[in-house]
Amino acid sequence: MAPEIELITTGAELLNGSTVNRHAQWLGHALEQRGWRLLRDTTVPDDTAAIADALRGALSRCDVVLVSGGLGPTSDDVTRDVVAAWAGAKIVMHEPTRLQVVEIYRTRNKPLNSMVERHALVVEGARVLVNHHGLAPGEHIQKNDKHAILLPGPPREFQGILHDHIFPWLDGMNMGCHSRRQWFQTAGLGESDIAALLNAGGLAELKVDMAYCAKPSQVSLRVQEIAGHPHDYDRALSLIRGKLADAIYSDGDQSIEQAVFDLLKLRGKTMAAAESCTGGMLGQRITALPGSSAIFNGGVVAYHNDIKQNVLGVGADLLAEKGAVSAEVACAMAAGVMKLCRADYGVAITGVAGPGGGSPEKPVGLVYIAVADAQQTNWQECRLGGGRETVREASVLLALDLLRRRV
Ligand code: ATP
Ligand code: MG
Repeated sequence: MAPEIELITTGAELLNGSTVNRHAQWLGHALEQRGWRLLRDTTVPDDTAAIADALRGALSRCDVVLVSGGLGPTSDDVTRDVVAAWAGAKIVMHEPTRLQVVEIYRTRNKPLNSMVERHALVVEGARVLVNHHGLAPGEHIQKNDKHAILLPGPPREFQGILHDHIFPWLDGMNMGCHSRRQWFQTAGLGESDIAALLNAGGLAELKVDMAYCAKPSQVSLRVQEIAGHPHDYDRALSLIRGKLADAIYSDGDQSIEQAVFDLLKLRGKTMAAAESCTGGMLGQRITALPGSSAIFNGGVVAYHNDIKQNVLGVGADLLAEKGAVSAEVACAMAAGVMKLCRADYGVAITGVAGPGGGSPEKPVGLVYIAVADAQQTNWQECRLGGGRETVREASVLLALDLLRRRV
């Protein structure tokens, strides 16, 4: 058996744009951590023929196939029937699950009807995987060497059953690919800059598996050992650390805000943010982290010049002379928010996110970021592309990165 798995996600809502398919990303990452690989994700509507077709295809390539969704009691829940047909088994009532469902309804004081009990239907002979987060259990059905694993659609239930029952089973087979691998997260360098730097350092001659994943102003690198070449892997890691140095903000899969959070926490320092074109996105990213009150004092969305002037104390002459999108105003915003929020560091972002508002001197994508502390203020000019959302996202990332390099 190869350490490879396919996923079939079912549900019309995943194809008509109303629900984002979150399973593939989550599962791909979780499997990667355990040395297994998600080979393919096929999304099909709640349709017997479509699910049967996807199942046949997946089982022809892989020994382990996960199927999510369609385990509920309604007429569009047909996954179980398809798998029963493949296994040549009947659908039966699983009494322990039925009792559990009845008990849940009783404690919640909800009226029971015959539909509800249908949650406890399973393929005969299946290993029933208890669902601690919902009603329908998961099911593990084996036929010869092939394994079909049925999981409920709601992400909390899907993930819970995998954690409780399937990952321990996969780990127990002890056949994942155990070559070493390492992630690096970088900011401020483009994908091709990184590749050129590393290849000039001799990376191209080393036998390692490299993957680059580029996002706005940010690149993730994954280095994986190739069997039989352990020294090349070690050399690749030290080459990457040496060449990319400060551009690396995490040698794992940490986010930039987490890296900034950890550094501030370690040093016992606090920050505040003054945001113009990003309208609070930086504050949002930082405050999404639990415990952020230890390092984040507050922020000001200084969109209008009046706010830059009256709340942050940016000089009226400075605004008139240099314009709101300028290095000088970014520095004054950073120093202003630092004082206003009594923080150790002030971070500021001001720019032209577009699509309108650009001029020949100040085109769309021109953004100034600044970081102030009691001693000095640093700033950086960024020329970003890719449309309004990308400009805003990249601005937040680069501002957090400027702060990280200072702390
Ligand atoms: P239930 O017993 O709740 O009916 P189910 O196993 O039948 O569960 P579905 O009806 O397919 O699952 O989906 C239940 C919910 O989970 C829906 O709100 C659906 O949008 C969501 N869901 C299903 N698949 C995914 C997915 N791949 N990513 C994110 N959400 C999903
Ligand atoms: Mg359903």
